Amino acid sequence: MKILVMNCGSSSLKYQLIDMENESVLAKGLCERIGIEGSVLTHTPAGGDKWKCESPMPTHKEAIQMVMDALVDKDHGVIASTDEISAVGHRVVHGGTAFSASVVVTEEVKAAIKECFDLAPLHNPANLMGIEACEAAMPGKPNVAVFDTAFGMSMEPKAYLYALPYEYYEKYKVRRYGFHGTSHDFVSHEAIKFLGLDPEKAKVIVCHLGNGASVSASIGGKCVDTSMGLTPLEGVIMGTRSGDIDPAIVQFICNHENLSVDEMLNVLNKKSGVLGLTAGLSSDMRDIDEAAEKGDQKAIDALEAYYFRVAKYIGGYVAAMNGVDAICFTAGIGENDKGARKGISAYLGYLGAFIDDEKNNVRGENRIISTDDSKVKIVLLPTNEELAIARDTQKLVK
Ligand code: AMP
Repeated sequence: MKILVMNCGSSSLKYQLIDMENESVLAKGLCERIGIEGSVLTHTPAGGDKWKCESPMPTHKEAIQMVMDALVDKDHGVIASTDEISAVGHRVVHGGTAFSASVVVTEEVKAAIKECFDLAPLHNPANLMGIEACEAAMPGKPNVAVFDTAFGMSMEPKAYLYALPYEYYEKYKVRRYGFHGTSHDFVSHEAIKFLGLDPEKAKVIVCHLGNGASVSASIGGKCVDTSMGLTPLEGVIMGTRSGDIDPAIVQFICNHENLSVDEMLNVLNKKSGVLGLTAGLSSDMRDIDEAAEKGDQKAIDALEAYYFRVAKYIGGYVAAMNGVDAICFTAGIGENDKGARKGISAYLGYLGAFIDDEKNNVRGENRIISTDDSKVKIVLLPTNEELAIARDTQKLVK
């Protein structure tokens, strides 16, 4: 069975065609500048060279047609006909409280995705556009929605309720949802398999540290708590997002800088995080690492603040679960930045969790990076959200 995985942004579309026989990627690519002048498709068949094709893509519909054409192209294609695609799996950012698992898309599902537009105004409209464009381009082919928020749906009220007037929860569903759920779900289950832990009882903490970052705690693969909230702004320090702050800062800065709440939210989402802490140097950890090595004090402080915040979340989650079996690192920083893994793990000695510098000198592969006598396993586990989406899609359409 071949599954097409789609991740649609407002002006972009990422895709992978995965052969589920051996879970191998047959081709992957990206459409950029959809709806903008200069639309371009970059398509990479497995083992082949990148192929760029510039052509107008006024909407996602034309973009998906370009993807279909690329997949069957006589020079760059990987399948003879789109009939070989059994189903399409879509990443959908917000499912509200309606979805605690992936679902085959129906008219009701689309209506529920629409209902969450105000909870994820940048993502959900684009995700729905992608689904509708696939329906139009491949009539009758099943589409599956895989929600970033589904993993967080197993949180109990004590974890998901904000201490706000209850009516906001009742009227507007203001609660904690959590994001990166597909990744947290995938990595926590991979950890259980990789380490041979009890699938029902394993206590696992996953640090998904990419440009966006979040930490989760799960027991037996079910989410107990996760650091992002109503939106992906809450939690740890990120590339450009502040993570947790005193909410009163919003009013304070709005008054002093004469900003609207919307403008302040833009600052918190796009100009904060390590970018803000380094006075605009960079949102990319590689640049911050380099500057810190050269003695840049703001970069040094930004790294320490970043490690400290993640370590505090880990500590909180150990308490929430009354223990932990494994602490996993994943995503761009988690998989590639040994300094970040070491810096965070330096706070975990009280757990009897110790990193092994030699084992930690690794990138992008499943590996235990704690010392042999470490009481808690520290693990590097690359995430694979596309494969997770393809697996869910296969399960639902089989
Ligand atoms: P992601 O959002 O998971 O794609 O992660 C992207 C982020 O990973 C980038 O912004 C970088 O900060 C970080 N990253 C990627 N490679 C490295 C590396 N070798 N060292 C440090 N950080 C890295």
